[in-house]
Amino acid sequence: MSDNPIYTPVPLKNVIALTDQLLEIAAMAGASDLHLEPLFQSMRIRMRVDGLMQLLKPPFDQLPATLADAIVVRIKLLSEMDISESRRPQDGSFQWQLNDKRLDIRCSSLAGHWGEKLVLRLQWQQQNIDICQQGLSPKQLQVVNHQLNKPQGLILVTGPTGSGKTMFLYSCLKQIQAPHINTVSAEDPVEVVLLDVHQVAVNNAINLSFSQILRALLRQDPDVIMLGELRDFDSADVALKAAQTGHLLLTSMHTSSLSEAVHRCHGLGVDMLALSYCLSLIINQRLVRRLCAQCKQPMTKVQLASMSSEEWLNAVTTYDLGFGAVNPCLPIGCEACHGGYKGRFGVFDILVMDQSKRDSVAQRQVQELEFGAGVRRQGLWRVISGHTSIAEVNRVTW
Ligand SMILES: [Zn+2]
Repeated sequence: MSDNPIYTPVPLKNVIALTDQLLEIAAMAGASDLHLEPLFQSMRIRMRVDGLMQLLKPPFDQLPATLADAIVVRIKLLSEMDISESRRPQDGSFQWQLNDKRLDIRCSSLAGHWGEKLVLRLQWQQQNIDICQQGLSPKQLQVVNHQLNKPQGLILVTGPTGSGKTMFLYSCLKQIQAPHINTVSAEDPVEVVLLDVHQVAVNNAINLSFSQILRALLRQDPDVIMLGELRDFDSADVALKAAQTGHLLLTSMHTSSLSEAVHRCHGLGVDMLALSYCLSLIINQRLVRRLCAQCKQPMTKVQLASMSSEEWLNAVTTYDLGFGAVNPCLPIGCEACHGGYKGRFGVFDILVMDQSKRDSVAQRQVQELEFGAGVRRQGLWRVISGHTSIAEVNRVTW
């Protein structure tokens, strides 16, 4: 049995120290999630860094079942979960300190065939939610700031899961925050705690839904309202009424394109005419990994010459240096990064509503909304400026 890699003894016997070590590895790598997955007689440990899953380095990638069980109990205790219950899914949370920084950790458990799997969502308390750091071009930043200064309207942020919509909404709220503005939010859950914003979390245990929170928030004299996600008719209906009655409303929707967002709203039963008049901005967003500044390598003339697609050439001729000088690079990989990438930033497509676009939304002639550059063009411009790679843009846009 000792030849089996599953039974390789793990040097650390102390469960508390080992749990801390796993959290520290994930936190130091900048992981957003840590996965503890039961396998046959062992447990696999993976983490999500910059949107992609990866195994921890040995010996932490796989732990023997006995040790794994103890770690699961330790984390469930920390998360204030019921350790006697291992069949029903549970949620919990705890705070954890690394040096002088505090990490909020949300834990969820779900039993599968080989046992209970834990997924830990790691969130630093001090998040970078400065709107200038999100990845908008200078022109886009100007457009967004202009809309955020308006007293009413609806700003809809779209994108697939994990495309950074929530952080973008937070960055907008932070930008708006001022002593003379009453900013409130309905979220599921509250991911980043903001000073001066009255943040309310959805609570299924007491049947507190988005629409109920919104109705209550509207009675609290708000100026700006953030609704975490537009996902059902009730909340969409209240959100529209809020946007129509002198409030600035910011929300998000899980759709991969602008036109899909319009179809989804129609599918929810939203009054499209009312929506078209409320909407001030529709934003489509993706997150791409940033090329590591320490190891990225400029593309050679031969490599550049091989990039001859019409789309690429169009992007090259239309690039206005908004993201910096032309310097397309390739990922290499070094000690300081993950396979040539370190961190992520947003790539945005922004649609400012005007009368003809309002008509398109009202009549759902959405092909006319797929205007201008699109999120992919923005991504290609970021390849040209050497901030990300073509492979990365291909990965997140389709
Ligand atoms: Zn590197």
